[in-house]
Formats: sequence, structure tokens, C-alpha cells
Amino acid sequence: MRLVLLGPPGAGKGTQASAIISKYSIPHISTGDIFRENIKKGTDLGKQVEAYMNKGLLVPDELVVSIVKDRLTKEDCKEGFLLDGFPRTVNQAEALDEELKNMNLKLDKVINIKVGKDILIERAIGRRICKNCGATFHIKFNPPKEENVCDKCGGELHQRDDDTVETVEKRIEVYHEQTKPLIDYYDKKGLLLNVDGSKPVEEVFNEIIASLEGDF
Ligand code: ADP
Ligand code: AMP
Repeated sequence: MRLVLLGPPGAGKGTQASAIISKYSIPHISTGDIFRENIKKGTDLGKQVEAYMNKGLLVPDELVVSIVKDRLTKEDCKEGFLLDGFPRTVNQAEALDEELKNMNLKLDKVINIKVGKDILIERAIGRRICKNCGATFHIKFNPPKEENVCDKCGGELHQRDDDTVETVEKRIEVYHEQTKPLIDYYDKKGLLLNVDGSKPVEEVFNEIIASLEGDF
């Protein structure tokens, strides 16, 4: 299955992605995770993207597109993949279409997770990530058993640098300007599945699976 997860920052894309990839055994390709990993390792790419991310701006299309193209050619993408946080601009979506066409492949569905602004801010501000394994928690909605300790690996939890009120508001603004047009883009192609992301994690997941299975 070849899927894209669309939605504003903090909508729950990463959270749903973990459950979807384990159900369908497909790789999770999160451009945000790839960038954060590169920043952590201090690579050239990490140095190029850090300032954009900390300001809540999008990384330039050329950088993102080449990374995703390269990732899609890997062996583990043969049977499908889940793109999370990519594409984020119409340019990126067109580049993805072109790449998939070259590979003789098509997207199956684009899952659009819809959540209102107040909830987005509360979710992003309370988000905590494991420094070691990247698992996501929330101080109120999905708290770890022990404060600041990852349930999965015992690693230390931390807050993302771009999860401040100011940056999240900027990221939501950028989403409205540059990413929201993709809803129409994929709707016109008949690929869009709208999901109410304001419900609890499991309900959102069940809705996604019911829509996907209804179609396959
Ligand atoms: P995104 O990848 O879209 O930015 P995340 O999956 O990281 O969003 O979720 C943002 C925060 O909201 C995380 O702390 C996560 O635990 C929490 N969260 C995700 N989905 C839900 C939900 N349905 N209800 C409550 N909290 C959620
Ligand atoms: P995310 O982890 O998806 O919330 O992304 C975090 C940040 O990484 C974004 O605010 C952007 O700065 C950058 N980023 C991630 N994916 C993309 C993309 N497809 N295009 C441009 N910038 C991106």
C-alpha cells in the first residue's frame, strides 16, 4: 500500500503512522524525522535545514525532494510505504507524481487528518519525544508511566525545539499557505480520505483503517 499522511502540525500524523505501518508492514518515511536525525548527527544536510525548522519555515523543495526520491528507491519500499509530512507543497506533490510515474507506481490513498487550531497548539506544546528511540508521548493525552522516561526503551524524553507556541503558530500559518492546497490537489485525483483527527488516537486509527479497507 502506498500512502500519504496529510495534516497540519500536531494533527497526529506521526502517531497514526506508527500504528498504520505496523498493520501493513510498510516503511514510515517522515521527512521531519530524517531532518531531525541529520541535525542530531551534525551532517551537512542537518546544518542546512536547522534554521528553517527552528523558525517554523519549510525546508526548500529541492532539498526535500531529492531525499524522498532517494528513499523511495530503497528495497524496503518495494511493497509500499507511508509518507508522513511529505509532500508539503504543490511543487513537492508534482515531483512525487513524476517520480512515481517513472517507477511505474501510483499512490493508493492520501489520508487527510483534520484538527482545529486550538487542539493543534495544545497537542504540539505537550508533545514529548524519546531522545533514544523517537517514540512520541503527550504530557496530558498520552503521558509516559514515569515522568520524562520513555515507556518503550527507558530513554529520556525531550521537547522538540520547534514546539514552542510561537513556532507552532508560524508552522500552522505556513501549513495554511503552502500545504493546504494539497487537499484540493489530491481530492481532484480521487485519492483523498478525510478523517476527524480530534478524536482519541484509537478512534482516529479505526476510522483510517475502516476507510482504507472499505476501498481495498
Ligand atoms: P504530527 O506528526 O502530525 O505533528 P504527532 O503524531 O506527533 O503529530 O502528535 C502531536 C502530539 O499530539 C503528540 O504529543 C501526540 O502524543 C498527541 N496526539 C496525537 N494524536 C492524538 C489524539 N488523537 N488525541 C490526543 N492526542 C494526540
Ligand atoms: P514535522 O516533523 O513533519 O513536523 O516537520 C518538522 C519541520 O521539518 C517542518 O516544520 C519543516 O521545517 C521541515 N520539513 C519536514 N518535512 C518537510 C517538507 N516535506 N517540506 C519542507 N519542509 C519540511
